[in-house]
Formats: sequence, structure tokens, C-alpha cells
Amino acid sequence: MCIRAVCALLCGMPGFDAYRKNINPCPRTCGQGPLWAPMAGCPALSVAGLRLVAARAMPRKDPQVTHTPEESAKPGFRSDVSVELVKHSAADTDVLWAARVSTAGEQSLDELTKDPERSKGLINYLMRDRHGSPFEHNSMTFFISAPIFVFREFMRHRVGWSYNEESGRYRQLQPVFYVPGEDRRLVQQGRPGKYEFVPGTREQQELTGRVMEASYRQSYVAYQEMLDAGVAREVARAVLPVGLFSSMYATCNARSLMHFLGLRTQHEQAAVPSFPQREIEMVGELMEAEWARLMPLTHAAFNANGRIAP
Ligand SMILES: Cc1cc2nc3c(=O)[nH]c(=O)nc-3n(C[C@H](O)[C@H](O)[C@H](O)COP(=O)(O)OP(=O)(O)OC[C@H]3O[C@@H](n4cnc5c(N)ncnc54)[C@H](O)[C@@H]3O)c2cc1C
Repeated sequence: MCIRAVCALLCGMPGFDAYRKNINPCPRTCGQGPLWAPMAGCPALSVAGLRLVAARAMPRKDPQVTHTPEESAKPGFRSDVSVELVKHSAADTDVLWAARVSTAGEQSLDELTKDPERSKGLINYLMRDRHGSPFEHNSMTFFISAPIFVFREFMRHRVGWSYNEESGRYRQLQPVFYVPGEDRRLVQQGRPGKYEFVPGTREQQELTGRVMEASYRQSYVAYQEMLDAGVAREVARAVLPVGLFSSMYATCNARSLMHFLGLRTQHEQAAVPSFPQREIEMVGELMEAEWARLMPLTHAAFNANGRIAP
């Protein structure tokens, strides 16, 4: 089967419909270009395309579909972030066999089904006493869409994380920008290290939305003007703001995720409170919901022990 035929076949699949709207330029354009063109944008041939094929193999909810305009369309504005668990090998039993090799050696796998209460107790003990390495024998890969300022904070988490982000050198960045939603507290009160956020007035909300959108539009016009004049993408992107949406894969394990969640979420059970920016917390909350589903005993032990990564 030729490349075009493969593209056409996959572009018609439901999962790829979401992909077209959400991430990449329409892969159907491959039928209109030279034969090699689909290799750049076709989900059938890209890693991201494989992502959806792989994701279909596991039970999961449909990915959030958000509007990403065509390259020449007007800017789009979002107040949300999206997180999709695209691949995982993660279960509470991964913690158990890793821990039980200490005492059971080659029989550690046989121990798994023996006593659920003992398993729960073991996970809690490991969490409480901060025996962290058994929580590393698992893997979760998330596809995340969020503003660039969130990714700047995210990528400070170096240990136990792998990242790949879309390139502003190799593709035209799409005009999708972050504007705070009505529930985003706009006003900071108090001194550094001890402050809180309170809702803004109606006027502050209106101003924020209006000024942000105007500034975003202006910067994207400047970006496109340079591209149209033949300036390289990697140069023209300098005018784009950190409120621009980007996308990345982030792969972690339960231990590195717990460390992230301890710092990037606020929670009533946290023994050491943190004060993250709300937008990265939104990403963290969505990741935590996926992880809690995969590893409920580990998640419960994390909460019960003050949300401090072991
Ligand atoms: C609320 C908040 C505000 C922040 N504000 C700022 C800011 O104003 N400016 C700023 O620059 N950053 C800021 N950060 C980022 C922060 O300093 C950390 O870089 C980020 O939280 C990642 O934490 P980490 O280094 O523990 O994580 P990871 O990089 O994932 O490291 C995990 C753990 O590995 C160990 N480790 C990793 N690298 C080393 C090393 N080189 N040497 C020794 N041990 C190591 C440490 O135990 C570390 O906790 C902020 C973070 C938060 C949560």
C-alpha cells in the first residue's frame, strides 16, 4: 500500500479526527502535496501518530479535543490545560514485587496475590519510612497541552522525568493562547512566601482578558509577518509570548510524580504546604487523577503520609 493510501486510511479513523483538530495540521493535506509531504505531517508515520494507535489499545476516556485553528486562522484562546495518559505500565503490584525481593528473592512474584491487607500495609510502610526505590519500577507517559510558562516550571523537575516538546524551529507554532478563566484568582495579597490569591473584580477580569487577547493577536501578526517575508521560524518565534500553548510528552514513574505533586499541588493532607502557580497545579491535578486510578493503594499511602515523596 502506498503512503498516501495509508494516510487516507488512518485519517478517517475516529482517533485521528481528534488528532487533526487538536495537534497537527490536517493530515489529509498529504494527498495534495508531493509524495514525500505526508512523511512530515502524517500521523500514520509520526511518533505522535503511533501514540494514538497505541492509546487505542488500552481502555481510556476520549482525549480532550480543543480547538486549534489552521495555520492561517485567527488566534484561539483557552483557559484550560489538557493531559492525556497515552501509555503506562504502572500498578500497585509493581511496588510489591520490587519490595518483596528483599525477603522473598525469586519467590517475590508469588507473594503478590497472597494477602491484600498485607500488601496495603507494606506500601504504607515503604511510604512512611521513605523507602523510595520500589516506587520506581513503573512508567507513565502523558501528552500535555499547556502554556509555555507552565512547561518552563515543569522542566525544572529533572530526576525521573523524560520530556519531548514540539519544536518552534521545525514547525509553525499554532496561535492558541492562554487566558485565565473566570474562576482563576487574579489578585495576590500578602508578602512573598506568605501570600494568598483572591478573585479579581469584574473590571480586573475584563481588563485581563481584553489586554491579553490584544497582545497575543499583535504578537502573532508580527510572527506571521516575518514568516511570510521568509524569516526562519526559529528567529520569528522570539516575538511569541509565554502564554502560547505548547505540547509535550512527559514520562515519569510514581516516585518522580509524587515529588512533582508534593511541590506543584496544594492539598489538605500535605504535611509541607506548597504554593504552586495555579496553571501547573491544573496539570498536576489531571495527572494525579490518572495515576490514582492506576495505583490506588500507592496514591492512598501518599496522601496518608503527608504527600511527601518517599
Ligand atoms: C512553589 C515553587 C516556587 C518556585 N520558585 C522558583 C523560583 O523562583 N526560581 C527558580 O529558579 N525555581 C523555582 N522553583 C523551582 C524549584 O527550585 C525546583 O527547581 C523545582 O521545584 C524542582 O524541584 P527539585 O529540584 O526537587 O526536582 P528534581 O529536579 O526532579 O530533583 C528531585 C530531587 O533530586 C535531588 N537532586 C536533583 N538534582 C540535584 C542536584 N543537582 N544536587 C543535589 N540533589 C539533587 C534533590 O533531592 C531533588 O529534590 C519553584 C518551585 C516551586 C514548587
